[in-house]
Amino acid sequence: MNQQSVRNPSVVIIGAGMTGILMTIKLREAGITDITILEKKHNIGGTWRENRYPGVACDVPAHMYTYSFEPNAEWSNRFAHGDEIQEYFERVGRKYGVTEKVRFNEAVVSSLYDNGKWTVETSKGDTLVADFLIGATGILHHPAFPDIKGLETFNGKMFHTAQWDESVDLSGKRVGVIGTGSTAAQVIPELTKVAKKVSVFQRTPQWIFPLPNKAFDEKQKQAWRDNPNKMHRLRKWYTRGLEHIFSKAVTGHKLQHAFVDFMCKRNLNKSIKDPVLREKLRPDYTVGCKRLIINSTFYDGIQKPNADLVTEGIERIEERGVITKDGNLHELDVLVVSTGFQPFNFMRPMEMRGKDGLHINEAWGRKVQAYRSVLLPNFPNFFLMLGPNTPIGNFSVIAMSEVQTNYVLKLIDLWRQKKIDTIEAKQEALVSFNQYLKAGMKGTAWVGGCQSWYLDGDGDPAMWPYTWKRWVTEMDQPNVNDLVMEAARPNAVSAPDTSSETAPNTADEKLEEAAIVS
Ligand code: NAP
Repeated sequence: MNQQSVRNPSVVIIGAGMTGILMTIKLREAGITDITILEKKHNIGGTWRENRYPGVACDVPAHMYTYSFEPNAEWSNRFAHGDEIQEYFERVGRKYGVTEKVRFNEAVVSSLYDNGKWTVETSKGDTLVADFLIGATGILHHPAFPDIKGLETFNGKMFHTAQWDESVDLSGKRVGVIGTGSTAAQVIPELTKVAKKVSVFQRTPQWIFPLPNKAFDEKQKQAWRDNPNKMHRLRKWYTRGLEHIFSKAVTGHKLQHAFVDFMCKRNLNKSIKDPVLREKLRPDYTVGCKRLIINSTFYDGIQKPNADLVTEGIERIEERGVITKDGNLHELDVLVVSTGFQPFNFMRPMEMRGKDGLHINEAWGRKVQAYRSVLLPNFPNFFLMLGPNTPIGNFSVIAMSEVQTNYVLKLIDLWRQKKIDTIEAKQEALVSFNQYLKAGMKGTAWVGGCQSWYLDGDGDPAMWPYTWKRWVTEMDQPNVNDLVMEAARPNAVSAPDTSSETAPNTADEKLEEAAIVS
């Protein structure tokens, strides 16, 4: 594109985690220079900066959990440790000159839309005016604390896994862990190595798929350094595996589900020696209903002599520890809260208002929804990254972010070419998108009779129920009939009804045709 003839929009990005870094790199590559990145904390990295608990790792293969344009030959294991992932993002941030541009310790206090512009106020009292606002705040960053009577009365040290207190020495201590999700499965084996006793308070058992965490030796890494194509091939191989096995297993494909079901059940039956413990760890819901845990350390950890799986249910917490429903007191020195996150907050709490002063809390009410996970009616020129119904599950969120970034860039491009001034989703398009999603949910594992963080207030999974390939294809083609594209100046440029005309072939042609009306 001839950079002279196009407009250069001002863009505010909220968050400097994986998506904020990616978006900044891609906007710059497209020639957009007026970018402000606001980050509430002191460093980039998002979830990997926050989660520092012992054993923290990514259960998506490392060579798939990288930006497609920045492969990394240095991963030490198939599943990278959290520290290594944080280092990776810091390195990419430096290499692409993102970090130096981030305004750290500066949270967004309010974002108000008016006539084609977003006015953003920050915690440092600054006011920014931008053409586009991008919410890159991630999905799981607001720790959820359990609503258990007496939690605050506990006398020992207590912290959430996402707020790990490194000053607490756990050696020789009696440690309690509430929760048995993906995080707990990683942290519990590490705790059993140092603590005197680890009491695990399990409310619901989880299915665990075993995948050994293979270490990569120097010879292997050198081969990748010498030939990055090998890394690309490996990435493709993992992507295929996750796409055709894990994603399909939870979205109604019987053969894949049977395979994952078999592997999880075999893992439980072979790994846990004590039949009583084995039955306590056996879920009664379909495999994949909750996010599948991929882990090869938890079953060993929970069988250590100093580990105790408590399944009686928590009655309350008092100064000395946890009292279970059978009346027993489990005395503790430290209580680790591994109860997950509030996935539907996104960039909230924030004073965010769209057209005519519509507050985001009113727009979402009790259902958080976004057209194609990205666009919100009445919130023009706002893009929500990794929004509801992004196909999360066990896939790489980096791959998802790259697809969404590409989608957003296509829309911003129209603005740059002066063809539109504002863009948002039509309300009816959001309604039909939700119907389309709902129709696909019926055969999925997520409605298989369990509670999970995937479910919204209506009990609808905030997931993508179709194939990864279908999502990528649909995201490659912004459907202009679903969008309101206007000039901020009078003459509106609503997308034309192209149904009776010869349909344009490519997404770019469709966008072009819609915008040309201006
Ligand atoms: P989670 O999967 O939401 O698990 C929360 C756990 O806390 C569950 O076992 C839940 O029990 C329990 N819990 C919640 N409230 C409770 C209460 N009042 N009393 C007793 N137990 C209670 O949270 P997470 O383990 O932090 O994982 C969240 C997500 O983070 C994962 O699904 C994954 O997407 C991501 N994650 C990814 C990785 C990775 O390697 N990529 C690692 C860690 C986390 P119930 O099941 O009964 O509700």
